[in-house]
Amino acid sequence: MAKIRPETQLVHLGRNPKYTQKGVNPIIQRTSSVIFDSVEDKKHAIRHRANGVLMYGRRGTQTHFAFQEAMTELECGAGCVLYPSGAAAITNAIMSFISSGEHILVTGSAYDPTQNFCDKILTNLNVETNYFDPLIGEQIADLIRPNTRIVFLESPGSITMEVHDLPAIVKAVRHKSPDIIIMIDNTWAAGVLLKPLLFDADISIQSATKYINGHSDGMLGVAVANQRCIETLRENSYLLGQTADPDTVYMAGRGLHTLATRLKQHETSSLAIANWLAEHPAVEQVFHPALPSNPGHQYFKRDFTGANGLFSFQLKNRLSPEQFSQFLDHFTHFKMGYSWGGFESLILGYQTEDLISMRQYDYQPKLGSFFRVHIGLEHPQDLMDDLQRAFDRL
Ligand SMILES: *Cc1c(COP(=O)(O)O)cnc(C)c1O
Repeated sequence: MAKIRPETQLVHLGRNPKYTQKGVNPIIQRTSSVIFDSVEDKKHAIRHRANGVLMYGRRGTQTHFAFQEAMTELECGAGCVLYPSGAAAITNAIMSFISSGEHILVTGSAYDPTQNFCDKILTNLNVETNYFDPLIGEQIADLIRPNTRIVFLESPGSITMEVHDLPAIVKAVRHKSPDIIIMIDNTWAAGVLLKPLLFDADISIQSATKYINGHSDGMLGVAVANQRCIETLRENSYLLGQTADPDTVYMAGRGLHTLATRLKQHETSSLAIANWLAEHPAVEQVFHPALPSNPGHQYFKRDFTGANGLFSFQLKNRLSPEQFSQFLDHFTHFKMGYSWGGFESLILGYQTEDLISMRQYDYQPKLGSFFRVHIGLEHPQDLMDDLQRAFDRL
């Protein structure tokens, strides 16, 4: 059979007839209790609970199974665990594999709450965290200790967008200490633009709140693991009480079918705007993985199959607090808010000291004010006009 292309795969994912019951889409099954026909039936459910047999609501329903199958296939893994948010996926994946007295290495440009979890919760559990430069590559080997248990990656990094040399990091870690679990926050790639498990990472984690849902109306976390990690991840997350509601899971599964098309448009529009910004006299640097000005662009070109709508740019000047508000407070189309990956455009602003407080490696920011934008599905010219009006306000 010919190789199936991503657009086609995404249309089919999660639509196993087992779960669609002759409809186009999987059913939404809301239940806590599962009713067993007999003692034998209950035993069967317990034995096969990880293989699409209903046992108890917190272990998932047909709706969850359909989406888990879809994500397992998309991320090329052995199984998938669902969580009520991306943050829960990250913290539970880590908690599932770390013990007191052990050590974790985390990229210095990880999503801020990931760092805070390590600093505030893991520290109390006697787990030590060291952060590293996202462009460290094979030199990560020098940071590995006898008690290092997890290497946690994120590419591109949150806000500052550095792209890892993923194969070099994985190779160095495997060579030095084959038992270390390599996890990666793959939210930016949405499971489409980068397939970390094909690079021999163990667990690919996503906030499905972002592009997979795609409509800014639900929170969900996903972790897809390889054969070596799935059992531990599934059982420990279950013990930690993790579950997700079937309506939100349904919406995430629905989002998958338009994901390739949406990503393409986000990419086209964001490239048009990033290239325009790169030529803009007020702009110092654009941090878009597909542009050569982005740290780690060469790895992006080699390992990713495309880009999306999320990138950052830095001004030549540091804005005064008044200018900062003037710039951000009066957009027509860009809304100011956390998160991204929906149909709508968003913007957040940072000053140098904000960036320094979020980066836990030898990060040397330039002085100009810094903005992270999500380019939504509006017409890119309207968004450029909106940005130009902001520059004119300064
Ligand atoms: C948003 C985000 C998360 C957290 O996801 P929630 O669903 O909001 O909990 C984790 N990692 C990255 C990279 C994110 O952007």
